[in-house]
Amino acid sequence: MVDCAEVFRLLSDYVDDDLRRAVCLEIEKHLENCPDCTLQVDSVKKTIRVYREASSREEMPVDIMIRLQDVLKRARTEDE
Ligand SMILES: [Zn+2]
Repeated sequence: MVDCAEVFRLLSDYVDDDLRRAVCLEIEKHLENCPDCTLQVDSVKKTIRVYREASSREEMPVDIMIRLQDVLKRARTEDE
């Protein structure tokens, strides 16, 4: 089973559809029981979608990556 810390660690890969399917399923199982992580994943997904709609580039740009890491860092700090 993945826990909250694991979800945050894998989040950027998860929203980027870059995780193995088995790991995605584990995360989705966790999200069903964890509103905090669900909110976190939603906000990151939204950030990425907004960017992708404004850009046709495939690569995640540096500024989004930095914002993402900031979100993840904050989530981790709140968790402690
Ligand atoms: Zn969680």
